[in-house]
Amino acid sequence: MDLNLKINGNGKLVIGNIDSSKIAEEYGTPVYITDEKRIRENYRRVFNAFTKYHEKFKILYACKANPNLAVMRILEEEGSSIDAVSPGEVYTSLKAGFSPDRILFTGNNVKNDELEFINEKNVLINLDSISQLERLSKIVDPENYKISFRVNPMVGAGHHAHCITGGVMSKFGIKEEEAPEVYKKAVDLGFKPIGIHSHIGSGILDPKPFKLASNALLDIAGNVASKADIDFEFLDFGGGLGIPYKPEENILEIDKFAKEITDIFKTKTGEYGLGNPYLYIEPGRYLVGDASVLLTRVNTIKNSYRKFIGVDAGFNTLLRPAMYDSYHHIVPVNNVFEKGNEKVDVAGNVCESGDLFARDRPLPKVKEGDLLAILNAGAYSFSMASQYNSRPIPAEVLVNKGKSELIRERETFEDLFNKQIIPKRLEK
Ligand SMILES: *Cc1c(COP(=O)(O)O)cnc(C)c1O
Repeated sequence: MDLNLKINGNGKLVIGNIDSSKIAEEYGTPVYITDEKRIRENYRRVFNAFTKYHEKFKILYACKANPNLAVMRILEEEGSSIDAVSPGEVYTSLKAGFSPDRILFTGNNVKNDELEFINEKNVLINLDSISQLERLSKIVDPENYKISFRVNPMVGAGHHAHCITGGVMSKFGIKEEEAPEVYKKAVDLGFKPIGIHSHIGSGILDPKPFKLASNALLDIAGNVASKADIDFEFLDFGGGLGIPYKPEENILEIDKFAKEITDIFKTKTGEYGLGNPYLYIEPGRYLVGDASVLLTRVNTIKNSYRKFIGVDAGFNTLLRPAMYDSYHHIVPVNNVFEKGNEKVDVAGNVCESGDLFARDRPLPKVKEGDLLAILNAGAYSFSMASQYNSRPIPAEVLVNKGKSELIRERETFEDLFNKQIIPKRLEK
C-alpha cells in the first residue's frame, strides 16, 4: 500500500507540508490540491529506474492525465517530453515551454486540418491508420519527412474495458499483420519512418501484460525492420503504468519493472539487429495521479434507505467513479487514522443517481461541515471536469514546501456563459 498519505502528529492530512484544512479555508471547496514534490519524485523514480539499465530512454508525459500549465512546467523542468493526443494538447505543450522536438503527437481519427496544424508546429506525427498516411502524403512533401506508426500488438490490459486500447476490439493502431506493408507503403511515398509505438491500456499494476505487449511490439518492429528496411530511432511502449487506488493494492515495483522491460528490449533489439534505438514510455497517471487530492466538504447527512454522506463535489469534478466504477480512497482530513466503523454512501451534488464517490464504504464517523479528501485525484480528474449541472469548475492549487499557490482560478457563474450567444431576435 502506498496511497501517498502524509499525516501530521495530530492525525491530520498534510499535503506539501500544509495542513489540508487550511487550504480549504483559504481557497474554498471543492478544490484540487497538487503536491509539486510528489510529481518530481514520481518522474525521477521512473527516469532513474530505466536509465540505470538503458541510457537511451525518454519519458513522454501523457498530458491528457493533467494538462494544467503549472503541472506541465514542473515536468518540463524535469526534462520530460510529451505524448499529445490532440492538437489542443500540442498547443498546450508548446505554451508550457516544450520545444517541438520534445512532443510526439498520437492522434486517432485525425482530420486534415489537424494534420496541417501538427505539421506547421514541427511536431512528429505518430500515425494511427493508412488513411492518415495517405492524407498526410498530400498535405506535406513526404520526401524524408519523419513519421512513426502506432500498431496494435494484440495485447490489451487496463482497469476497465473502456481503458483497454490493444486487442481485436480496439479502435487504435495498425493491424499487426499489416504493419510491414504499411511501413513499406510509407517508404514508397518518400516518408522516413523512424519509430514504432503501442499503448495497450491504462491502470496496469501487474507487469505481465505490459511485458507481453513489449515482446509483441519488438517482434513487430523486427519484422518491419527486415521487410521494410526501417532503421528505428525509437521504440515507444506507451503508458498505462498503474498506481494503487485501494489500500490493499500493491505498488508497481518500478525498478523491477524497468529491469524486466529493458531486458526484453535489449534481448530483442539484439536478436533482430535493430541497433541501439531509444526506448520511450508514456506514463500519465503514474506521474501525477497520486500527487493530488480533491478536498470536498460534507454538507448533508441523510439517513434514507441507506446512509448518505452528501458532499459539495460531484462527477463533474471527478468522473472516474461514475464512468469507470473506479475506487478512490476517501479520508476525513482531521482524523485520518480513525478506523471506519460504519458503511456509508458518499454522494455528490449532481442530479444523477450515478453520482456517487463510494457505495457501502466504511468511514469513520463524520458530521456535516467536515472535510473529506478524495485521494489520487491527480490524473483524469480535473482534465475530465465539466460544468455539467451548471456548476463552475473548482480551483486548482499547487503546494510546495509549506506554500500554496493558485494555478487555476475557481470558475464563476459568468464562466458558464463563455462563448454563448443569444440571437438578437431572442434577446429580452
Ligand atoms: C492515455 C495515453 C497514455 C497514458 O496512459 P496512462 O494510463 O495515464 O499512463 C499514453 N499513451 C497514449 C497514446 C495514451 O492515449
